[in-house]
Amino acid sequence: MIQELLTFITEAPSPYHTARAGEALLSAAGFSPLVWGKPWLLAPGGRYYTKAFGSALLAFSVGTKTKRGLRIAAAHTDFPGFRVKTSAGLARDGYGLVNVEPYGGLILSSWLDRPLSLAGQIVLRGKDAFSPELCLFDFARPLLTIPRLAIHLDRKANEGEKLDRQTSMTPVAALLEKEIGDEFFLEKLAREIGHKPEDILSYDLNVYLAESGSLLGLDGEFVSAPRLDNLTSVHACLSALAGQTAENGVRVVALFDHEEVGSRTKQGADSSLLPHLLEAIYRGLELDADDLADDLAQGFLLSVDAAHGLHPNYEDKADPTNRPRLGQGLVIKRAASQSYAGDAASSAIISALCAEHDIPCQTFANRSDIPGGSTLGSMASARLGIRAQDVGVPLLAMHSARELMAVSDQDALTRLLSAFLF
Ligand SMILES: [Zn+2]
Repeated sequence: MIQELLTFITEAPSPYHTARAGEALLSAAGFSPLVWGKPWLLAPGGRYYTKAFGSALLAFSVGTKTKRGLRIAAAHTDFPGFRVKTSAGLARDGYGLVNVEPYGGLILSSWLDRPLSLAGQIVLRGKDAFSPELCLFDFARPLLTIPRLAIHLDRKANEGEKLDRQTSMTPVAALLEKEIGDEFFLEKLAREIGHKPEDILSYDLNVYLAESGSLLGLDGEFVSAPRLDNLTSVHACLSALAGQTAENGVRVVALFDHEEVGSRTKQGADSSLLPHLLEAIYRGLELDADDLADDLAQGFLLSVDAAHGLHPNYEDKADPTNRPRLGQGLVIKRAASQSYAGDAASSAIISALCAEHDIPCQTFANRSDIPGGSTLGSMASARLGIRAQDVGVPLLAMHSARELMAVSDQDALTRLLSAFLF
């Protein structure tokens, strides 16, 4: 299971690639692709998926019996990092630099002195303006790095590093011949994909850590890997859905993009994507709006996203009574502010489900003097008017270029998803 997760992480260096890796996992499990804009004819026992704008993936299975019911597991395909700006090539003092901007709430210092690469979507000239050719691309090898300033040039480096999001964080990509200017980047990109620079109209390129995940710890009990937030959740949702078909009702996995920048986009959780998906599914099953309203009233949305584990070096940052530890099971999150979705009833339902299936779980709440993060759970459940609860695996170093978790917690999360989607 954990090796599958590490392979999945390697296959998902951009949100587009997360969606594609998910699509491959579902296809291998017999899910059929559906296209938006055509009526869907759905059969009992059927398993289907569709993508939205390349980086959101929506999958569902239909029960083999006619009794209805609705359960949805939601997670996000994106992760903090950097995105390459347009006109990104920057020739300076014989170096070829790439102009990037931060994406999401990343820890800047964790990206210094690391092997980095680029992956995402490149848009090529098509037959007319409205028909460009979209291609997924991953350099899949170390390509860039953001070198730190030597300590001799900054004697105060160990007293708290000051990093400017523009001037300190520009990756180095090449050593340039004298006559080569800013065009080096586009020319290199074009050569890599076998096209001319003038054919590249645009791109969404993600800067990612070109290192694979690894097990560590005296007994191999930890996983250190990039993008654990939130590919742990994506992988648990997809493998649980692919592993079985429920007897009754509709089981949905909704994987949205842009959670790390607020979710308010066409393929984000705060969009009409999920309501539209459910309407299309119920129409395809020849059910009407009343049937959907009934199922939403009785249904449940599980929002799956990484949680903060208790950090042994900073244990005063944890709440006095809700202190999830790595290796002690998945985390049920609560926040009075509703930055995490859930109420007494929904958290009780999920902890009871864990108890029924002998799945270890623990609770998380922010310290009242530290606001903490948020997830897509409340937004997605407000869009639908459906009961919801936030859960996830506990991590250390969340939003660092490499994050840390316990092997056994991924197993607990996947088992909960299997029980929930049954
Ligand atoms: Zn997340």
